[in-house]
Amino acid sequence: MEHRIEQIKKQLHAQSYKLTPQREATVRVLLEREEDHLSAEDVYLLVKEKAPEIGLATVYRTLELLSELKIVDKINFGDGVSRYDLRKEGAEHFHHHLVCTECGSVEEIIEDLLGDVEKIVEKNWGFQVKDHRLTFHGICKQCQEAAVQSTTTS
Ligand SMILES: [Zn+2]
Ligand SMILES: [Zn+2]
Repeated sequence: MEHRIEQIKKQLHAQSYKLTPQREATVRVLLEREEDHLSAEDVYLLVKEKAPEIGLATVYRTLELLSELKIVDKINFGDGVSRYDLRKEGAEHFHHHLVCTECGSVEEIIEDLLGDVEKIVEKNWGFQVKDHRLTFHGICKQCQEAAVQSTTTS
C-alpha cells in the first residue's frame, strides 16, 4: 500500500501536481477497494469516513485529475454511472471486465488476451493501438449455477 502511494505520488510530481492530504485520502480509498468499481459518490462516502472535512467536489476533482493522469481509468458499464478503476501496477493496458447482467457483479481479467487482435487492427487499418477497453456482458458462474439449481429443485 505505502509503496503504491509512493508511486502515485511520483506520477503526480512528474506532472507537477502534489499529493495533498485530500488527494491522498482519495487514493487510499481506491487502493483499499481496488477490486471494486466505485462511483464518485461511493468514493466520497468512504473518503468522508477518514476525512470528514472533504467535500464531494474535491473528491470529484481528484478523480478527474487521476483519470487525466491515467492513474485511474474511468469506466461505464452501461448503467449511466461513471466508475473509477485503479490501473494495475505496471499495466500497459486497461484490464477487461465481465459484467453479469443478472446480479451486476463485475469480474476482472488482468491478462491482455488482445495482442493478436491489436496486430490485425494495426495491419489492416494502419491504426496505432495505444489501449483498448473490453467489457463482456453476460451471466456469471454463480447466476448460472443458481439457475440450474432452481430448475432442478422445482
Ligand atoms: Zn476493473
Ligand atoms: Zn451474476
